[in-house]
Amino acid sequence: MKLKNKFVGIILVLGTIIFVGGGNPLIGLSNHKDSYIKNQNLENTTANSSYLMLVNKENPLSLDYKPSNLIKPNIKFLSSTSDESKYMEEKAAKALEELFQGAKKENIILIGSSAYRSYRSQVRVLKDEINSKGVDYANKYVAKPGKSEHQSGLAIDVTNEARCFDKTSPEAQWLANNAYKFGFILRYPEGKEDITGYNYEPWHIRYVGKDAAKEIYDKNITLEEYLADMV
Ligand SMILES: [Zn+2]
Repeated sequence: MKLKNKFVGIILVLGTIIFVGGGNPLIGLSNHKDSYIKNQNLENTTANSSYLMLVNKENPLSLDYKPSNLIKPNIKFLSSTSDESKYMEEKAAKALEELFQGAKKENIILIGSSAYRSYRSQVRVLKDEINSKGVDYANKYVAKPGKSEHQSGLAIDVTNEARCFDKTSPEAQWLANNAYKFGFILRYPEGKEDITGYNYEPWHIRYVGKDAAKEIYDKNITLEEYLADMV
């Protein structure tokens, strides 16, 4: 009996230590940090490959996330595009070159506007937009640092000679109908704002690989829906 009571006592003490540990705010902080996607290996993550990595308001990237294989695709960029924004993850960059060439064959001239965006740049962009267009606009159109897909190196905003890339432009229409053939999707489609968390952006494409892009295009779904279907 005495021995058993001792055991119960030890278990109670241990339980208390664990309970107190759970209330430690520092532990909470490290859990929060872990919710950020850190150093995703592009070759072996879940869902076939991390070309399917989900970056949105609920799934931010960490401050130090940066693809290791960033290269400059051989395409035309706007003269205003910063040097950093000309970089993309290597495979996405190669696929983008093919997309631009495919467009050109059909007399569609695309221009790169902004691709990779570091965490530091996102902080700067947000500050600039708040200063020039106000908090409401910035909240609607500018991702909070870490929550921009541009940090993945897999996304790019494109434009046209007219700098008017709305859905009525031939370039936007071509992109919507053909991007999937090169492994890209329109990441923020019209009518899916409640799922993606972003307004319609006909100029923002995201590399996911040809198989996923085709399925997403055929089913007229978002990356969020595609990944939810895979689980
Ligand atoms: Zn974009």
